[in-house]
Amino acid sequence: MPGVRISRRAAERIRGGHVWVYRSDVAGAEGIARGAMVAVHGPRGRAGEAERGFLGTALYSSSSEIALRMISRGRIDRLEPLVRERVRDAIAYRERFVESTNAYRVIFSEGDFLPGLIVDRYNDIVSVQVLTQAMDSDPMRGIWISELQAALRPAAIVERVDRRVQRLEQLPERESGVVWPQARSSGPDRDSGEAAGQEPGPGRVATEIQMNGVRFLYDPLGGQKTGFFLDQRENYARAARYARGEALDVFCYQGGFALHLARACEKVTGVDSSRQALEIADANARLNGKEVDWIEANAFDLLRDYSDAGRKYDSIVVDPPAFAKSRHDLPMALRGYKELNLRALKMLRPGGTLVTCSCSYHASSGDLLETLAAAAVDSRRILRVLENRGAAKDHPSVPGIPETAYLNCLILLVS
Ligand code: SAH
Repeated sequence: MPGVRISRRAAERIRGGHVWVYRSDVAGAEGIARGAMVAVHGPRGRAGEAERGFLGTALYSSSSEIALRMISRGRIDRLEPLVRERVRDAIAYRERFVESTNAYRVIFSEGDFLPGLIVDRYNDIVSVQVLTQAMDSDPMRGIWISELQAALRPAAIVERVDRRVQRLEQLPERESGVVWPQARSSGPDRDSGEAAGQEPGPGRVATEIQMNGVRFLYDPLGGQKTGFFLDQRENYARAARYARGEALDVFCYQGGFALHLARACEKVTGVDSSRQALEIADANARLNGKEVDWIEANAFDLLRDYSDAGRKYDSIVVDPPAFAKSRHDLPMALRGYKELNLRALKMLRPGGTLVTCSCSYHASSGDLLETLAAAAVDSRRILRVLENRGAAKDHPSVPGIPETAYLNCLILLVS
């Protein structure tokens, strides 16, 4: 196995529990094959210390800024058994901790110690995103496809290709589509025959999921690039627990919060700038026999207009897209969060609840709390934290890898 040496700074990060090493911190990687396993050593110590500097085994990327992703603190000689075991572990974790849904994240990359692999289950469809050279190699694809197929018995496994990642990681050109069962497979002999005679294709993979008793349509290869926000599933249920009266779901996408609130509230309005998302939201509402008003608008404009007009609600959800794509954007992002939340606070009747989220890992739970504290002062409202939450348990966060704790969700009582 080839070896590399990493800088003192990077070695400290790895000893602190992180798993990424940036290219600028790596020496001796010349000529290492794409996606190869490498032995990682810390900076050269005094004579004879080489072995003490051994940090573990990583997967190498020849093009990404993140050159190494650790997969073990030990010395691994064969990747296949390790990956098979990690996939099974991830599935066992979900069997133990995920409830009230047939849609959940099965593998969360670093959160499941399988860096570069994201797998979601939507009822009978498994949807995969491959983010690294190592996970994309043909043998590796065969390994995770066979494990997923055997354990989850899906009708199909589809792959969603992220063009940006494909370019950065220099992955071979692929299109989004069905990866299992293969269109020209030699037959269902490796399987019990469930898929025999089926013609896989985009038309066949659309499905319906349910979570917390609410139903949603899902089309993994449909026009929507973003898919579904499975990470909010437990927050949907908690938001509905406190909601009542008139509700407003801002940045509603396909209606995740709105349709949960509709179970508890008399009237629900959902706002999003994407017409396409609202069309699916409306179909979801019909599927559940609910009436929701969907408004296509810029949320900043709408909140300003509504709060200026003195509109009132009992429950408001604010779940914007990630404003801070980098640390540099954080001050601007926090101003955005403050503006949105200030408007929302002004519109809440006393005793109402605000559910406010941030899905950028650069904005910490502390940042969000501070922002809300400032908005409370400006709006002269008193806030109490009912719940301080993160992503659902199928998106495990790992101490030492702060990027895995990217979602914050506060539920506040507003007096
Ligand atoms: N709450 C949703 C997820 C929201 S994702 C759920 O649980 O499923 C963020 C959403 O914000 C996207 O649907 C996007 O279309 C929308 N969006 C982005 N910028 C917007 C803006 N300025 N005004 C309104 N909606 C916006």
